[in-house]
Amino acid sequence: MARAPEPTGRPDGVWSANVARTESGELAVAGVPVTQIAGEFGTPTYILDEADMRARARAWKNAMDAAFAPLAGADVYYAGKAFLSKAVARWMAKEGLNIDSASEGELRTALSAGVPGSRIGLHGNNKSDAEITLALECGSAHIVVDSLPEIEQVARIARAAGTRAPVYVRLTTGVHAGGHDFIQTAHEDQKFGLSVTTGAAQEAISRIAANPALSLIGLHSHIGSQILAADGFAQAARAVLDVRAWAAGQGIEITEVDLGGGYGVRYTDADAVPPAPEEFARVLAAAVSEHVAQTGLRPPRVSIEPGRSIVAPAMMTLYTVGTIKDVATDSGPRRYVSVDGGMSDNLRPALYGAQYTALVANRLVEGEEARCRVVGKHCESGDIVVHDVALPPLAAGDLLAVPVTGAYGRSMGSNYNMLPRPGVVSVRDGHCRVILRRETIEDQLALDVG
Ligand SMILES: *Cc1c(COP(=O)(O)O)cnc(C)c1O
Repeated sequence: MARAPEPTGRPDGVWSANVARTESGELAVAGVPVTQIAGEFGTPTYILDEADMRARARAWKNAMDAAFAPLAGADVYYAGKAFLSKAVARWMAKEGLNIDSASEGELRTALSAGVPGSRIGLHGNNKSDAEITLALECGSAHIVVDSLPEIEQVARIARAAGTRAPVYVRLTTGVHAGGHDFIQTAHEDQKFGLSVTTGAAQEAISRIAANPALSLIGLHSHIGSQILAADGFAQAARAVLDVRAWAAGQGIEITEVDLGGGYGVRYTDADAVPPAPEEFARVLAAAVSEHVAQTGLRPPRVSIEPGRSIVAPAMMTLYTVGTIKDVATDSGPRRYVSVDGGMSDNLRPALYGAQYTALVANRLVEGEEARCRVVGKHCESGDIVVHDVALPPLAAGDLLAVPVTGAYGRSMGSNYNMLPRPGVVSVRDGHCRVILRRETIEDQLALDVG
């Protein structure tokens, strides 16, 4: 049973760079005390440290630019599914990143923030005609083709629009990673991508190259998520470049390669410290330059798609403590601390058994720590916010902060039990503002047409 680490301001800590204790002992984000945020905006609320998020985005962009300058350059696409709002899309664009979308909603959010279509990619294993049409209309950077039937779907829409669609092919290379290791399997049993092993990927490449309505510009691979080591990425890069070399042998020149996202973060002290963006970029660039030296092919322009590693550590969730219950368990006493949100604002513990930590945020509490489980208010026993954390004696009304909730928290949020989804407050230089307002019961009733 571990207690949460205190904020340190370091990029490898679990708190964002601008979280600190005030003199009175409460947490503050970029100089704004959490009691002020709770007072103004209520709880639960997601608090986003704008400068921290932008610094992480910038670090990826700078690292990739530097590592790939001797080759053909690089792009960084922020994976919007991790968390997207207009403000976030604008910040990413200002920091020099592009945006990845995987639905009409994500695409429209980035466009409505003023991001040009030429800086937005479209993903998805089951794209609608409307999504493909919108991507073509806005001049999207590329559409990542994920199946053989999609080739004719995109071509049909491009022909009707009198344009050529820029496409990537998503490869299933057999490299899978997550956590500390990666595995290479010959066969794939998952919904994404076209298999290199079975030849489906090569078939897609040949068909696209032969289709005048399509322009084959790139190959794509995404090997997993929450990856804390670089070797799986290098392995996948080699597999993608081998396919590119095969295509070159067929007379098909492919100028771009996208190596996906999945760069891991620390959720608790128990997680390994992931390599810095510079290290990931160095490993990727080494794999690419080695491959082009061996094959004599021109270097491709390389892109990556980090989501979690940019936004997860930049955001915390602030809850108010309600009911506290001491329970006897086979492994000893456990204190259940209930908060005013739960699986509707962070599904990851229920979905993946994900581990988080928590600190009492409104004051420094003295006293003996107890083994606690932080739970939500939903009608589900798996509605857990933090499985196991040492907390000092706390009381109803205290504020609890859970760090590293920026990715797949709000974006996977739901209205389970008809809870309104929390808003997102961004803080910078002592000022806070709502970038996504809290839902209200009225919002939900407005959908209910009786
Ligand atoms: C989910 C996903 C990403 C982002 O993954 P993170 O773990 O958030 O970095 C990038 N690319 C694709 C294709 C994805 O599916």
